[in-house]
Amino acid sequence: MTDTRKFIYAFEDGDGKNKMLLGGKGANLCEMTQIGLNVPPGFVITTEACLTYLADPNDELPPGVMDEVREQMRNLEQKTGKAFGGASNPLLVSVRSGSAMSMPGMMDTILNLGLNIDTLKGLIAESGNDRFAYDAFRRFIQLFGKVALGVKDEAFDEEFDAVKDKAGVTADVNLSARDLREISDRFLEVIERETGHPFPEDPMEQLEIAIKAVFNSWSGKRAVDYRRQFNITPAMANGTAVNVVTMVFGNLGDDSATGVGFTRYPDTGENRMFGEYLTNAQGEDVVAGIRTPKSIDAMHDEMPDLYRELQELRSRLETHYKEVQDFEFTIEKGRLYCLQTRNGKMNTTALVRTSVEMVREGLMDKRQALLRIHPDMLEQLLFPRLDPGAKAKPLAKGLPASPGAAVGRAVFDADRAEQMGRTGERVILVREETKPEDIHGFFASQGILTSRGGKTSHAAVVARGMGKPCVAGAEGIVVDVHMRKAFIGDATISEGDILTIDGTSGNVYLGAVPMKAADFSGELETLLAWADEVARLKVMANADTPDDAARAVKFGAQGIGLCRTERMFNSQERLPVVVEMILAEDAPARQAALDKLLPIQRSDFKGMLKAMAPRPVTVRLLDPPIHEFLPTEQQLVDELDQLEHLRDTVLGMNVLSDTIEFMYRTADTHPQVTHLADPRLVDEAIERKRTMLQKVRALSEVNPMLGHRGVRLGITFPEIYAMQIRAVLEAAAECIKDGIEVHPEIMVPQVCTVQELCRVKQIVDSVKKAVESYYGVELNFKFGSMLEVVRACMRAESLAHEAEFFSFGTNDLTQAAFSFSREDAENKFLPMYNEKDILKDNPFEVLDVKGVGKLMSLAVDFGRRTRPDMKVGICGEHGGHPASIRFCHSIGLTYVSCSGPRVPIARLAAAHAALDETKRAGIQSM
Ligand code: PEP
Ligand code: MG
Repeated sequence: MTDTRKFIYAFEDGDGKNKMLLGGKGANLCEMTQIGLNVPPGFVITTEACLTYLADPNDELPPGVMDEVREQMRNLEQKTGKAFGGASNPLLVSVRSGSAMSMPGMMDTILNLGLNIDTLKGLIAESGNDRFAYDAFRRFIQLFGKVALGVKDEAFDEEFDAVKDKAGVTADVNLSARDLREISDRFLEVIERETGHPFPEDPMEQLEIAIKAVFNSWSGKRAVDYRRQFNITPAMANGTAVNVVTMVFGNLGDDSATGVGFTRYPDTGENRMFGEYLTNAQGEDVVAGIRTPKSIDAMHDEMPDLYRELQELRSRLETHYKEVQDFEFTIEKGRLYCLQTRNGKMNTTALVRTSVEMVREGLMDKRQALLRIHPDMLEQLLFPRLDPGAKAKPLAKGLPASPGAAVGRAVFDADRAEQMGRTGERVILVREETKPEDIHGFFASQGILTSRGGKTSHAAVVARGMGKPCVAGAEGIVVDVHMRKAFIGDATISEGDILTIDGTSGNVYLGAVPMKAADFSGELETLLAWADEVARLKVMANADTPDDAARAVKFGAQGIGLCRTERMFNSQERLPVVVEMILAEDAPARQAALDKLLPIQRSDFKGMLKAMAPRPVTVRLLDPPIHEFLPTEQQLVDELDQLEHLRDTVLGMNVLSDTIEFMYRTADTHPQVTHLADPRLVDEAIERKRTMLQKVRALSEVNPMLGHRGVRLGITFPEIYAMQIRAVLEAAAECIKDGIEVHPEIMVPQVCTVQELCRVKQIVDSVKKAVESYYGVELNFKFGSMLEVVRACMRAESLAHEAEFFSFGTNDLTQAAFSFSREDAENKFLPMYNEKDILKDNPFEVLDVKGVGKLMSLAVDFGRRTRPDMKVGICGEHGGHPASIRFCHSIGLTYVSCSGPRVPIARLAAAHAALDETKRAGIQSM
């Protein structure tokens, strides 16, 4: 049976969209030719020809292919007016590989094919430049020898170096035509010596050998390894095509040139051509850095006509491809050729600007403008970052726990950070790890560096929430708080030394590394407004203070999805009141402490409601086990020990003072020994510490995270929740009185049964009545539940009778679903699980769609059985992760809530999720 497949396409005939058949490069050359760009004439031999050849036991090209090649070469001769193998005006071609997927440098290319002793003479005559011709010849012999005949580079290099030595030159450019001629002769001998055959003189024979060699490179080790490494399957690329293209030369005199262009500036997005070129040069000269290329702007004066043509080329490329293009060109004797074009790679600033401008210019629609930017790329614009041009060597490396870069003086405890911060000093808080009581140090610092803990350690989570850079778990650093120093190998960081941390890479530097500021431009706002138009998910922020709330509004948050009230308890002036509440012996004593907390919380909530108005603010009632606000047992035992010693010292010093006083009573002068302190003060301190220790022991739990926390606390100490509910509702009432529209929401954590919700709801109802009657206003707010316990997901249908909204706390839900404790998992076995592919991702960073996601999806369905229009969101860390956002969209959530600075990323991700869904629906209905 004869093979009727068409194996060869001239650039005028190939389908520019069929990359599987023609390879990426071939398809592109066809497309460029067909839209009228001046591409050097050529043709493509298909990937099907490659696969048929590779399967042939006799290593023969499919029947008829060489006849067709001959026919195509005749066409090329006609188009160029040159002769393949001709002794005058010879036609030379390049033979290039190109598969459907780009595999840079993996397969082979041969240049200047068609040269032999006869055609060489023609080339010399045609170019009038024998140095150029011999240079082309020696390059061809070596490339052909290496790629097509398997001769090693070393054999050529030896001869090359010998001639260079003989000529007494070190740089290739200084070789004369005679030297290059000698090199060519020696190279021909190398071929004969190494292969046992003379160099093939017949150009058509050269071409056939070259085509087979390029096909063979598809199954070469380099290419096979590359495909394995990058998971390129046969469905993505199967075989390589061969492109046979007429050679054009940029080094044929001062009316020739070679260069690269970008249709817009790749670093700023400015709508102006960017590029570089060299006159009388070939591409290699640019790459080799032998000569410094000129800016494309210089061509305006040097070659005005060609500059105009290049501008035309630029606009044709953009009009056709509707995307910024990165192209290569050659000018041969005053004629401009476009050799290649592809979508330009740009930084995020340029991507955002070009997206907005190209929509305005009608080159793309909003949908395309949004989809061409990966949401995570926006991170580059939202935080200060190290200047990419800065050359600094990192001193240590930790985990990139919260993005952005910061410079400041090292301090080793939160109090010192606060003191120095107050004087306007920029500081970096360096700790082994941080605790809730360090919160004031976070507020005062530019960034946080810890030597222990993972990406979900306290330092990481709090820093992310505040949008401050954090490098966590930099294990090479040993922190000594008492000495106020940190040690890294031989280096020492003392308090006050300047450090730079990069929370995007995890690097730590000594000294100040130059930085680039965040760049939340008007264009980004426009783009994100378009994102909001198409997104179905709303994007809220997790924010704990009025300042956080105000910042979240700037990032475009549509409300606060989670305010962790306990974060506010940790500030220095509040903690003693919280401790008083915990240590209270009875209800009246506790109420007295709560009465002090009420106005503080009310004022915080009012600040947040005002900053967010009229958007919703979801306040979560107290969640963590209350012993988290107390010192640890060990700390108290140590302090008691020190106080006991101090008591003896105080007593001893006072006895000494009295004795001296007695001994020298009659003398004129005597030594001064003052009373140290009233020993009763020390006793009081000891008493207080003992009470605290007793309380800490009484509150101690085996598994605090599964213990007395969340709603369980609210039920055993209803007065705490009553105070918080009152604070929210009074704040709302005050706002209403001030004429501000507010939408508070009260959310209960750790719920597992509807009875828990009922109990809290009773408190809410009674406080609501009291506040409404006191302020004379009507309060409108929502009451809802977090879903972060497996049982709550399973009982969502029942919970929805009491809860008006749900919010998935996927941090806890992930712990619960896996039975992993987050810190232990991340510090001990998770990295190994990821490495060995037992788990693909860290489920605390990337939502586990198959397990946790399944629970979520069930809970959404159950909840909406009771309350069909139920608002359901997510407020765990996953709410800011694009892949997780896509999933949240797919199961019909109403909103995602994430840390303020991730809001823009989430807005774009929400738009992508909606657009992808539309695209999929479109494909299915086709
Ligand atoms: C959660 O569990 O996902 C959550 C938001 O609560 P937290 O992280 O405060 O436990
Ligand atoms: Mg939780």
